[in-house]
Amino acid sequence: MSKAEPLYRLQLLDLDLDTARKQLREVEAALTTNPAVAHAQTELVKAQQAQHKLSLEAKSLELEGRSLYDKIKENEDRLYKGLIKTPKELIDLQREIEMLKRNSATHEEKQFTQMLALEEATTIMTNCEAAVAQSTKHWQEDCVELRNVRAQLKDRISANEERREAISMAIPRADLNIYVALRTKKASGIAVAMLKNNGCGLCGEEPSSVLLQQARTGATLAICTGCGRILFPS
Ligand SMILES: [Zn+2]
Repeated sequence: MSKAEPLYRLQLLDLDLDTARKQLREVEAALTTNPAVAHAQTELVKAQQAQHKLSLEAKSLELEGRSLYDKIKENEDRLYKGLIKTPKELIDLQREIEMLKRNSATHEEKQFTQMLALEEATTIMTNCEAAVAQSTKHWQEDCVELRNVRAQLKDRISANEERREAISMAIPRADLNIYVALRTKKASGIAVAMLKNNGCGLCGEEPSSVLLQQARTGATLAICTGCGRILFPS
């Protein structure tokens, strides 16, 4: 039996562990945050701030309007109660009242426009609240499935870890060290290359007949002269 055979079996487990662990991280992330919910929440905060600003403006405009109304009323009272002594005073007061009424008309128009803006902002805010509720509901529904997937992945990982432990026990320590070092070094995590048509299955390098023989029955591991991986005869 090739010395590389148990390492090849170990690699199959390790590659599956890599995949399962990566998927588990993705599932955990998807259970922690959801882009659609986060986006809807950001939009809601913006809408709330805009609505709050307009609602403060509305209150301040209402106070201004009341103050204008009070001033007009106060002047008209003076006019009708016959408290005015001179014609000049009368003309001044009438002018003052006219000016206040013009201001009041302009103010009412402004208040009307502002009220429409506030209504629109309130509608947007309500829609954003609905979007948050809707996206949260969808996410929660997705989470049910995600939790199932997470449980399956955890089972797969622990089963593979147990198998890995068992296989590793039967491999000489020195071979295991070479394998682990190669897996760390290679970005793909592939340390063992299967021979295909007497060539390295990964880099294509054709080993010498001596190296081929070593890969098949040798007492030490055969290393590919092309990519440095352990050669495993299929
Ligand atoms: Zn190679």
